[in-house]
Amino acid sequence: MKKYRIGVAFFYHESHTFSPSKTTISDFEKEAYLKGNDILEHYQGTKTEVGGFIDVLNQHDQVEIIPLVCAAAIPSGTVTDEAYQDIRHQLIGTIEQSGELDAILIALHGAMVVESISDPETAMLKEIRQAVRNDLPIATTLDLHGNIGAEMVKLTPLHFGFKTYPHVDMYEQGYKAAETIMELLINQTTYYASLAKLPVLLPSINMRTAEGPMRELTEKAKSIEESDINISAVTIFGGFPYSDIPEAGTSALIVGTNQRVVDRVAEEFTQYIWEYKEKFIYHLPTIDEAVQEAISFRGKKPIVLADISDNPLSGGTGDTTGLLSKMVDANIDNSLFGALYDEESLQICQENGAGSTVQLSLGGKWSSEFGEPIGVKAEVIHVTTGKFRNKGPMNTGVLVNTNGATHIRVGNMDILITGRALSANDPELFRHIGIEPTEKNVIAMKVKNHFRSSFEDLMERVLYVDAPGLASNDLTVFDFRHIPRPIWPLDNIDYDFELTRSK
Ligand SMILES: [Zn+2]
Repeated sequence: MKKYRIGVAFFYHESHTFSPSKTTISDFEKEAYLKGNDILEHYQGTKTEVGGFIDVLNQHDQVEIIPLVCAAAIPSGTVTDEAYQDIRHQLIGTIEQSGELDAILIALHGAMVVESISDPETAMLKEIRQAVRNDLPIATTLDLHGNIGAEMVKLTPLHFGFKTYPHVDMYEQGYKAAETIMELLINQTTYYASLAKLPVLLPSINMRTAEGPMRELTEKAKSIEESDINISAVTIFGGFPYSDIPEAGTSALIVGTNQRVVDRVAEEFTQYIWEYKEKFIYHLPTIDEAVQEAISFRGKKPIVLADISDNPLSGGTGDTTGLLSKMVDANIDNSLFGALYDEESLQICQENGAGSTVQLSLGGKWSSEFGEPIGVKAEVIHVTTGKFRNKGPMNTGVLVNTNGATHIRVGNMDILITGRALSANDPELFRHIGIEPTEKNVIAMKVKNHFRSSFEDLMERVLYVDAPGLASNDLTVFDFRHIPRPIWPLDNIDYDFELTRSK
């Protein structure tokens, strides 16, 4: 008989509370809502957190993997109570039916919000804790954009956050969480954690880890992990500013085997974050400035206009028309726009088929607050089911379903329309339908930073555009009601932080 029975789960969503859309159970079903062996089939061999869990556990002969429930939806509006209760019911039910478990590995996000629960990750961990024995080891992975609730560390000290943005270390952190669980089970090691929360709300535009302040902070974190034997994980959570909840904000979470050292590192990092905070503020060009720059751009590789305010991975609806409308007017030679989420236009193209000419009213369907729909005459070039596999390096091997796709041409511009909102994080999104992005002079995409992991070598320049949208870089445009106040940069405050320990 196997010695250790380890449960594996995934519960993941980044919720934009200002979004007009709600995230329902069908949004989870579209992305991933899996039970039992389907989990292993879906994630084994992928560079995801769960892929990392599985790889480590499979190295140990004495481990039996107990797949529980995996539920993930792409970032969008607040999760409905109904969807949360459905997933909670499945997950807790599966744990209760699984017999005696020896540990649980669960991939969480940290910025999920449910209609009546501001911190569902903590709520779910609490439910899990109640369903298992009090000292059962539980380890999580968390997203760099998590708004981490202080109670999380009280439920388990083992948390491993991403250290990259774009998040290309999901697998690595999953791997590390699983290794730590095995170390704990085999050697009975005791772990401690301290969470330091700062009254700081940072825009995410400059949280990239290739350069800038987040790079310096994560480099420091990595060097401490490598050099201090008492420290297992140091994570800086930039936070997600579009969740209007009491837990919103930046934090540092330290995991280790010596409480005193863990506290010291936590305090050290709050100081660093406080000193670096100004460097996260970034001024962006207007739509007109960006379009003018794109028109005059001459390069060997394309220039990318990033419509960051409508990045679906930051909760954008994927259908705003601010930038699109100016680009259609400018009719820029050899340009590409994508993906635009528009089910109605997609359906017209599907019905008329490739080779037809159609009249469309593009975008602006979710809310005209960020631009009205644009009337265009378009040529339908190609229509697909919208299914392809990512080539990475982020989410390598993961099957993507855009819910249908069409490639249309409007004047000199190629436009990709999809049946759901999603960021162009992998060139396969365009290539699967026959569009080669590297052949374009100008590419406009609804992206923020994740796309860089696969587009960096394909493009010459990126311009982040200050267009209207739900994921605007300017935090002063949001009507916050629930975040803790005072908070920087909305208020003027002195250095302060709150420390919560696991024990
Ligand atoms: Zn993230």
